[in-house]
Amino acid sequence: MKKKIAIIGAGPAGLTAGYILSKKGYKVDIFEASSSVGGMSKTIELWDQLVDLGPHRFFSQDPRVNNIMFEIIEKDYDIVNRMTRIYYKNHFFNYPLKPLNALKGLGLLESINCIISFLISKISIKNFQNRNSKSSFQDWVEERFGKRLFEIFFKTYSEKLWGISCKDLDSDFAAQRIKKLSLFEVIKSSFLKKQSKKHKTLVDAFIYPKLGTGMIYERMKNKILKLGGNIYLNTRIKAVNPKLDQKNQSEIIFFDDTKQLFDKIISTMPITNLVKSMGKLATEKTMESINNLKFRNTILVYIEIKEKNIFPDQWLYIHANDLKTGRITNFRNWTPSINKNKEETILCLEYWANDDSEIWRETNEKLILLASKEIVKTGLVKKESIKRGFVKKIPKCYPVYSIGYKEELSNIKNFLNSFENLSVIGRYGAFKYNNQDHSILMGLLAAENIADNKNHNLWDLNTDYEYQESGDLQLEKAD
Ligand SMILES: Cc1cc2nc3c(=O)[nH]c(=O)nc-3n(C[C@H](O)[C@H](O)[C@H](O)COP(=O)(O)OP(=O)(O)OC[C@H]3O[C@@H](n4cnc5c(N)ncnc54)[C@H](O)[C@@H]3O)c2cc1C
Repeated sequence: MKKKIAIIGAGPAGLTAGYILSKKGYKVDIFEASSSVGGMSKTIELWDQLVDLGPHRFFSQDPRVNNIMFEIIEKDYDIVNRMTRIYYKNHFFNYPLKPLNALKGLGLLESINCIISFLISKISIKNFQNRNSKSSFQDWVEERFGKRLFEIFFKTYSEKLWGISCKDLDSDFAAQRIKKLSLFEVIKSSFLKKQSKKHKTLVDAFIYPKLGTGMIYERMKNKILKLGGNIYLNTRIKAVNPKLDQKNQSEIIFFDDTKQLFDKIISTMPITNLVKSMGKLATEKTMESINNLKFRNTILVYIEIKEKNIFPDQWLYIHANDLKTGRITNFRNWTPSINKNKEETILCLEYWANDDSEIWRETNEKLILLASKEIVKTGLVKKESIKRGFVKKIPKCYPVYSIGYKEELSNIKNFLNSFENLSVIGRYGAFKYNNQDHSILMGLLAAENIADNKNHNLWDLNTDYEYQESGDLQLEKAD
């Protein structure tokens, strides 16, 4: 008889695991705390339009991930020509950075300043690789771009996002997100690379489902149900007890204290909550490590604007120091089918916060007021054009890679690895700064470990993000 599988969480990781296992003949039970599937990658209906939870660009160079995506959305996608810029000192800078555009925006004096500071960094940092292995994000970027460019294009945004100094942020974050990028690379790629119109890379364009990114997961849900799986919405799991009984089964515990036994459990719930729920099974050292892992929360403030042409980007990074928001998404510039021919445009301003930050406890009315003031301050929108606002708070969505996190995570991994019937995957599930594609891959590999007796190390999954962007855009299923 096939094993009984429980999956905690119906985001991209949990649903993919459920989908693959269902296809292989397993009967899965997926327990989801919220009232719909998709996790952080869901699409919601707002003011008769469709919007994602912040910008959600899907991209991957991994054929295994792309194949699952195309199997699910088939031809129901559009290709979006990417446009994203940085807003700094009333100028817009292309992102990824382009030297001539940066030079123009910064002015001659500031540009000379940047070049001198870059040269100084090259002279003073002779042997970066051999320095302290606990190098910070700031060291990493300054070594590649110089101090001044770091201050302009990396510091403000990163510190808004992570809530800690870039000196305390592990260079892992940079290595995963801006790998292989340096000032030389930026200059080389913009001057030497031949731009072919037919040949699109993941930097130039991306695939976007016609009904928003959440369409992938709504369809996955339907396929799982058709294959005989169960998805229980509004069902938050309180605890996991992976101690094996005589039948090699583990139990999950619901909030009404009822229990169910399963042969295998795949968890995508926050790793901190999972370990804490395991109570006395965790050693003091593991609990100490769990308490040292920190997450950052996101506040999304959606604003409806009575205008069509506000700015052409899918999103803007806001580096200005005098604005609290860090990113503004414009949902009109993704695909027309989510805007539904409406005259109004929906923008989303992002704010980041810790659990104890004042802004996290702020009322929705005050947050809408703040976002309205800030969008007017950018000069992009007139006060009279603002119609209404809506707030969505997402807890624990950024695992903070502060210096030392790897040692803490390693203690936790050792503890969790001792339970062979439990796999932890996903963004907050495995404390990985995942995009959708990474969580999909984790779900796929967790399913293969169970169904095909594979031995994929799920902790080691690669997240070298920006590096992948140099690849070509895949437009259909690969054989
Ligand atoms: C603002 C923002 C912008 C982003 N932009 C992009 C982008 O451009 N491109 C991209 O690819 N990715 C992007 N991401 C990342 C993407 O959203 C995530 O990587 C992806 O959703 C992670 O999937 P997951 O399944 O690992 O986790 P989640 O999506 O978080 O799903 C976990 C699920 O578990 C459920 N859950 C939690 N606890 C319990 C419990 N105790 N019991 C039952 N269920 C529980 C949750 O409700 C949730 O549905 C962005 C994320 C954010 C927040």
